[in-house]
Amino acid sequence: MSPLPYSSTSDPRFRDRFLDGARFHLLPDPATPEIVTVNGACPRCGHPLSHTFELYEPDDYGPEGGEEPIEIVLQCMCPDEHPGRPANRSTGCGAGWRVTLPTGQQ
Ligand SMILES: [Zn+2]
Ligand SMILES: [Zn+2]
Repeated sequence: MSPLPYSSTSDPRFRDRFLDGARFHLLPDPATPEIVTVNGACPRCGHPLSHTFELYEPDDYGPEGGEEPIEIVLQCMCPDEHPGRPANRSTGCGAGWRVTLPTGQQ
């Protein structure tokens, strides 16, 4: 099976496809996350990926915790081979998508 070519792609279906099976770890707690780790599979190439990042502007949560949904932009960062990947990128197949964090859930 030949590897999927790199393509800078966004597709509205990526979100649902990614969320089906994705796991979120929100620290220190889901109501006021500061560090988020996302594990899942790229909705385009299917390779497993793991992102950890810091959320900024925690003041936005307010005293009651996260009421506004927090949307983040994810990019495929798989280490696998995708022909045609730009020289300035070492990972990913080019897919990008948005997800809303499951904040405030217990
Ligand atoms: Zn891949
Ligand atoms: Zn991918």
